[in-house]
Amino acid sequence: MSGVLVTGGAGFIGSHTCERLLSEGYGVTCLDNFDPFYDPSIKRKNLERSLAHRAFTLIEGDITDPGTIRSTFERGPFDVVIHLAAKAGVRPSIQFPLEYQRVNVLGTAQVFEACRTFGVKKVILASSSSVYGNNTKVPYAETDNVDRAISPYAATKKACEVLAYTYYHLCGIATFCLRFFTVYGPRQRPEMAIHSFSKHILRGQPIVLYGDGGSCRDYTYIGDTVDAVMAAVRNVSGYEIINVGRSETVSLVELVHLLEGIIGRESIIQWQPFQAGDVEMTYADIEKARSLIGYSPKTSLKEGLEIFVNWLRRTP
Ligand code: NAD
Repeated sequence: MSGVLVTGGAGFIGSHTCERLLSEGYGVTCLDNFDPFYDPSIKRKNLERSLAHRAFTLIEGDITDPGTIRSTFERGPFDVVIHLAAKAGVRPSIQFPLEYQRVNVLGTAQVFEACRTFGVKKVILASSSSVYGNNTKVPYAETDNVDRAISPYAATKKACEVLAYTYYHLCGIATFCLRFFTVYGPRQRPEMAIHSFSKHILRGQPIVLYGDGGSCRDYTYIGDTVDAVMAAVRNVSGYEIINVGRSETVSLVELVHLLEGIIGRESIIQWQPFQAGDVEMTYADIEKARSLIGYSPKTSLKEGLEIFVNWLRRTP
């Protein structure tokens, strides 16, 4: 049974990834510090199914701590590291830029350094569509210039991609950097738009929309995202940056209308000015993902939102 280390495995994408790995027969070690960015009890709940599996090990600890990283890798050997642990979210990164640097960049350096020391040769790294900044060419392709990050979060994700290349070049650690495009579905982080809007509309509470509602996002259903992660695990070799989106972009206003239709209730909208650090649009060109790892997103936004809202209705 191959051993996989998933950092950030208690989070939204991580917990789904752990479950899929276990269901496909991998042994999984999850390293997570249950960071209080959102309620850690949600993360404990995320892991309930995995914890019931005998091939699952949970290590509670911080990727920025060298001792923790060392003792985690001693529990290996790991064939692959799926590195998802990070401070996520654009807006808080403007408030706490140094903390984002510390966790995302130093933490990633610790992970790669441990891979070098312990001979791990394959890494899947969580990058982000935010690295494209306010790219004017759409859809966004991996060959586009991404030197103009407009938030500290985006800058840390770009830095991680660069660091990964250095370890590939010097140590031969094969890495696929997956640029995730706004992932949603059951267990989505509570501060993200789909989760927060749905919760408020269900309760008849106002939602806050920034700008004129025209900013657009390419939303990716979690099941499709995990398909891409699994395909990356099976195919990782060399160094590649790969967009993982749905390749459809939807405005904020369109998203709210879709949610209103599914929930069966009109929203109460409070308008606020456009937020610094937010990008105007995300829109993935996914041809590279299709050809390199056979990625093919299956879940339409409407289907995915219906699954999400059903989950939210059942979730206390
Ligand atoms: P999440 O916050 O739910 O998961 C991240 C996990 O990392 C959490 O469980 C957290 O406790 C853990 N973590 C944070 N700091 C840590 C540390 N110092 N040591 C150990 N664990 C730590 O976020 P998510 O939405 O699941 O995102 C997973 C990854 O994907 C992140 O790297 C994020 O930047 C990236 N990403 C997510 C999206 C998205 O739409 N969700 C989009 C682009 C990129």
